[in-house]
Amino acid sequence: MSRPLSDQEKRKQISIRGIVGVENVSELKKGFNRHLHFTLVKDRNVATTRDYYFALAHTVRDHLVGRWIRTQQYYYEMDPKRTYYLSLEFYMGRTLQNTMINLGLQNACDEAIYQLGLDIEELEEMEEDAGLGNGGLGRLAACFLDSMATLGLAAYGYGIRYEYGIFNQKIREGWQVEEADDWLRHGNPWEKARPEYMLPVHFYGRVEETKTGVKWVDTQVVLAMPYDTPVPGYMNNTVNTMRLWSARAPNDFKLQDFNVGDYIQAVLDRNLAENISRVLYPNDNFFEGKELRLKQEYFVVAATLQDILRRFKASKFGCRDTIRTGFDAFPEKVAIQLNDTHPALGIPELMRVFLDIEKLSWDKAWEITKKTFAYTNHTVLPEALERWPVELFEKLLPRHLQIIYEINQRHLDKIASLFPGDMDRLKRMSLIEEDGGKRVNMAHLCIVGSHVVNGVAKIHSDIVRNKVFKDFSEIEPEKFQNKTNGITPRRWLLLCNPGLAELIAEKIGEDYVKDLSQLSKLNKLVDDPSFIRDVSKVKEENKIKFAHYLEKEYKVKINPASMFDVQVKRIHEYKRQLLNCLHVITMYNHLYREVSLAEKVIPATDLSEQISTAGTEASGTGNMKFMLNGSLTIGTMDGANVEMAEEAGEENLFIFGMRIKDVEELDKKGYNAQEFYEKLPELKKCIDQIQGGFFSPMKPDQFKDLVNMLFYNDRFKVFADYEAYIKAQEKVSELYKTPKQWTIVAIKNIAASGKFSSDRTIKEYAKDIWGVKPSNLKIPPPNEPRDAIDDVVAASQKPKA
Ligand SMILES: *Cc1c(COP(=O)(O)O)cnc(C)c1O
Repeated sequence: MSRPLSDQEKRKQISIRGIVGVENVSELKKGFNRHLHFTLVKDRNVATTRDYYFALAHTVRDHLVGRWIRTQQYYYEMDPKRTYYLSLEFYMGRTLQNTMINLGLQNACDEAIYQLGLDIEELEEMEEDAGLGNGGLGRLAACFLDSMATLGLAAYGYGIRYEYGIFNQKIREGWQVEEADDWLRHGNPWEKARPEYMLPVHFYGRVEETKTGVKWVDTQVVLAMPYDTPVPGYMNNTVNTMRLWSARAPNDFKLQDFNVGDYIQAVLDRNLAENISRVLYPNDNFFEGKELRLKQEYFVVAATLQDILRRFKASKFGCRDTIRTGFDAFPEKVAIQLNDTHPALGIPELMRVFLDIEKLSWDKAWEITKKTFAYTNHTVLPEALERWPVELFEKLLPRHLQIIYEINQRHLDKIASLFPGDMDRLKRMSLIEEDGGKRVNMAHLCIVGSHVVNGVAKIHSDIVRNKVFKDFSEIEPEKFQNKTNGITPRRWLLLCNPGLAELIAEKIGEDYVKDLSQLSKLNKLVDDPSFIRDVSKVKEENKIKFAHYLEKEYKVKINPASMFDVQVKRIHEYKRQLLNCLHVITMYNHLYREVSLAEKVIPATDLSEQISTAGTEASGTGNMKFMLNGSLTIGTMDGANVEMAEEAGEENLFIFGMRIKDVEELDKKGYNAQEFYEKLPELKKCIDQIQGGFFSPMKPDQFKDLVNMLFYNDRFKVFADYEAYIKAQEKVSELYKTPKQWTIVAIKNIAASGKFSSDRTIKEYAKDIWGVKPSNLKIPPPNEPRDAIDDVVAASQKPKA
């Protein structure tokens, strides 16, 4: 196997990664050496690879600082409408390379590090992932931050600075073992703590009616300490902020205990308060009603709204003296997007602040709140929908429960007047579910408290509008929208696939990076033999590189000439990894029968598996990443697969299996797995093998529960799509036998993937939901550090208008 080009070698040949000026490079080298000395306190004799990573990270970070301060000053001066993206997850991954790309510093850094005798890829590998998310929802938030900065929106991400992100998965003797993700162990060069902006968050206590209004008293206070991370746009001098809150116990926490003499215990108990931001709940598409999670959800929302209100009040339009009229401008200056229902408490919290602190009337407070919030729904799986027990609410957030009851009362009064006597409808639409213990339905709260509700792909938004929340859309049809998800092409092409990014730039120029729809220009090259060769060569190199990585990191050897058939995503029943397993077993059985078939199957390529049961995957974004990178898709008509087929032509994907209507028909008739098992001999053979201990001879009943589930309790109907899936896989193998044809289809897919840029998604949110315009702010390039500091001083000394 020949050694692949390293990224360092590849980057040298290409232009999309910034200019390698001599001054540039010597500045970077100087910065690197300075940080190694002053920041890391090391010399080259004792420095570790990690020290070198930190020295480079700090050097690159220095290039952000002036732009960051400048951008924030500019927002203060211009006072545009701010967009706040609230999310319990931001799955950011690594930051160093992304920063170099967005600042156009990549080639210069490569050269500087090379001249210092170091390997930049090795340094990049030292960075910990910021794994503050579970999967697609958290990664979407991260892609959106990149797009909002690239489009020049005055936007902020607000979330929690979990001390432990998504666990590291280890497999020991075939079983998963979760390992703690201690990602902050070595320090995080990208964050800046802002203890001076610490804010109090209240829990528990009781509600008191006083002459001056309702008071929430006898609460326990936890402090929220902000940590800011810069979010650079692509080559536009904009640097936005992601602000993540960390929980701190107040210094007088449990002072009562101290008074009775247990100072040590009081200090130890500070952990109880600080546990709020300790760890990300690793649930994907599943609601687990734990008190600590509800605390996290309120914690982020309470701290963030204080920040938003402070910023609004400090702005030109903010209310200073004229509180009552001042807040009328709030929805013109503030848009808050709720990433699923996780930050839904923002709605009653803003109501509480307006009513109890700012003393607005209910009607005024409600009008402003509704105009401010918008809600994105991410799933229709019932087990994922948040429904918090009223009991828990009453204990932790008694005032919020009161407010939710009042919202509900007014909401139900409205429904009752529109549909007199329709008790069933009232029950269906209530924010409070009554049967099986009282619960607050957070999706209903979000719908009622927002001016827009959106799904994340056409098919999903149709389900949201016409099925799951039909009652609500009947009353307010204009509230319901679609915003098909996207992915940022900076990370998911330039960063992860430099070879392809550069090849495309050579053919159609570099502008496609900011306008991904320009990829359609590649359509004129589908018959160009040299382009076809180059595209397949890039894929081949990527496969060789990945094979090397797998062997080095996981001691797994694979043949780079084989088809790389990939299903990477969270393991969940609805995503049907089991269907994929059945195909693998079926292939195994073919091989077992006919060795020559193996020789035909083995020369292979990249195939993206998107095989969820129709109607269950809201959008998916993994599917888009594969398409942009020239994989072919085998998939069901679910989530964004539908729109991918629409863009590329269904004939250029391997679409198979039940459509939503087929699933519904099967449900009506009653899904009987046994029927499929009896009817399909190859399926029967697979299942018999699994059941009979063929794959677990030491423990023959290892998979008993699994088989029982597939027969008697399979909500996602694996057997019903088995036959169609196997047939689609045969078509895949057939096309793969003619590599040139395969690559032509891959190019057609790349050319059709422009729609799936998160830039397009964010432009739609900006126009249809937030009422803000992209790029109406032109951030000037940063000043020298000295001037930048002067500017800040000047701005802070300016009399507040
Ligand atoms: C894109 C992405 C996902 C989402 O993948 P799906 O196939 O849409 O579920 C999950 N995890 C990570 C790390 C991702 O980058």
